[in-house]
Amino acid sequence: MNTSHGYAVETDVPQDPELPLVTGAVIRKDRGRYLIRASDRVVPCSISAMLRKRLIYPTRDPASLGHFEVLRIDDIKAIDPVAIGDNVAFVDAGDGTGMIKEVLPRKNQISRLAAGPIPLEQVLVANVDQMVAVFAAARPKPKWHLLDRYLVTAEVAGVPALICITKMDLVNARSDAPGLDAAVRRYRALGYGVVLTSCEDGRGIDEVRAMFKDRLSILMGKSGVGKSSLLNALEPGLGLRVRAVGSGSVGKGRHTTTHLETVPLSGGGGVVDTPGMRELALWRARPEELPWFFPEFRPSLGECKYGASCVHDSEPGCAIKQAVDNGDVSVPRYESYLKLLKEMS
Ligand code: GDP
Ligand code: ZN
Repeated sequence: MNTSHGYAVETDVPQDPELPLVTGAVIRKDRGRYLIRASDRVVPCSISAMLRKRLIYPTRDPASLGHFEVLRIDDIKAIDPVAIGDNVAFVDAGDGTGMIKEVLPRKNQISRLAAGPIPLEQVLVANVDQMVAVFAAARPKPKWHLLDRYLVTAEVAGVPALICITKMDLVNARSDAPGLDAAVRRYRALGYGVVLTSCEDGRGIDEVRAMFKDRLSILMGKSGVGKSSLLNALEPGLGLRVRAVGSGSVGKGRHTTTHLETVPLSGGGGVVDTPGMRELALWRARPEELPWFFPEFRPSLGECKYGASCVHDSEPGCAIKQAVDNGDVSVPRYESYLKLLKEMS
């Protein structure tokens, strides 16, 4: 190669056709199309066939936690190897579009089991800073067991969780929401932040804004609990569609949307809403690992009479049941544990 004039002269050796890789974060995806935010622009990208084949994010073996099992390539066709929040390296095609070549290592991921006969892991979002579980104080009535399911999901993923109770304007009298005060106290005592909000009177909105600032948050909550309203209150001008009162049954899967996206916050940070969330099968852990994901159980683990074989159900000499009797573990949380345990076995 002659470079005496300061530039490379063509030789017989083929030049590497690879263009330089640019890195960015996935902010939206919809059926194989991705929007990537790079430092100075947003680039629509596809994904390389190589990546689809090479990537081994296929599944979480249902019998193990945190250990990935590689499925045959045939089996992973349906699973998208790129998640919202992923940092990726892409090739700039020069026409304003790009092609994703590589997913950079994740700091965490929140997954659910994809529907179907084989247990495939579907990563909803990667690299999140916090999960925000959203429940309405009323209309629809909060389901604390579902909250515990979300909190376990966050614990499994190693993601901090925050609880937001919306529509506080609907519960001016204590009798409007029996059990709400107790639940708020229960979760605060466990160390989870609980924010009480209303889009009607504006309470808690500044607090939520401060907690969302400069972080990537994933919202978990059934449709109708007020997630869009909350985001609209945080970001006036966003104009997310809010469902009219009385349109269909609250809390039943209304969304059919397949896309997921990050809503950017003007103060910095972003929020991923989860339309079309199936509430079931969010995660799989081994039944014997479940107690670990209830933080208040941890001091008692290993103290049971039957040791590691105790599932803390009806065995004699169970330290967890003892903790329930002492009041160190609350009854509703223990019941949630038993319910989840039953689903898993
Ligand atoms: P999403 O499905 O979780 O996004 O819920 P939406 O934001 O679409 O809200 C569902 C319904 O709850 C709508 O009728 C909203 O007007 C109503 N809503 C949302 N936030 C509040 C609130 O703070 N107070 C009251 N009273 N209603 C609310
Ligand atoms: Zn036990």
